[in-house]
Amino acid sequence: MLEAMAQVRAAAPISTLVNTHANGDHCYGNQLVSGADIVASTATAREMGEVTPAMLAGLNAAPGEIGELFRGFFGAFDFSGIELTRPTRTFDGRLELDVGGRTVALIEVGPAHTRGDTLVHVPEARTVYTGDILFIGGTPVVWAGPLSNWIAACDLMLGMDIATVVPGHGPVTDKRGVAAVRDYLAYIDAEATARFRAGIRAWDAARDIALGEFAELRERGRIAVNVEAVYRALDPAHRSPSIVELFQRMAALERPGA
Ligand SMILES: [Zn+2]
Repeated sequence: MLEAMAQVRAAAPISTLVNTHANGDHCYGNQLVSGADIVASTATAREMGEVTPAMLAGLNAAPGEIGELFRGFFGAFDFSGIELTRPTRTFDGRLELDVGGRTVALIEVGPAHTRGDTLVHVPEARTVYTGDILFIGGTPVVWAGPLSNWIAACDLMLGMDIATVVPGHGPVTDKRGVAAVRDYLAYIDAEATARFRAGIRAWDAARDIALGEFAELRERGRIAVNVEAVYRALDPAHRSPSIVELFQRMAALERPGA
């Protein structure tokens, strides 16, 4: 892949790169465009060093059950040779860039999926690049939350004059894709809140909520993480379990027949 990317760069040099958030599948290519301006929100830049390629490689290579668990999620990724390359420019809230004569607006909408999610809006092209604020065909995963921020980000896009929506995962879509993600989040928020109020523990709530029309989405086990985000928003004292426990819960929910 590195070689192919070098050929692409030679043919069409990249001068400006935006990291929409800190997950590796959205910033581990930074070293390939090290001559470019790399722009991210301050919160994203800060979060970027917390999970390193070496840590992920270590989890994939771990012996026993833990290695097996993580290879189930990340086994397809090769983390070797990746040098964490930091943004060269950070912003808070909103930043307008001129890229090749076109206005490109960066709009920080996190914390939501992560702590610093950014939408990239190109008004002249009536296009928005959403990063992982949209998963199309897969289940959104709310690592940071609150869900209300993410729902507000969807509402912001639904109010834009846009025809083309490029998600972080899945096929290019339009406002229908935005509405579908909003519907999922609003449903989980309502269902998890009702169970919180009834005194049900988060993990029991995640197993109890009927996914209905959302059962067809891939990675449905992410509801375990999403219910945790709802509980944290409702009770600042709520402590979510470790990342290993969260991945164990997701795996349990996605086991065939679960
Ligand atoms: Zn992603």
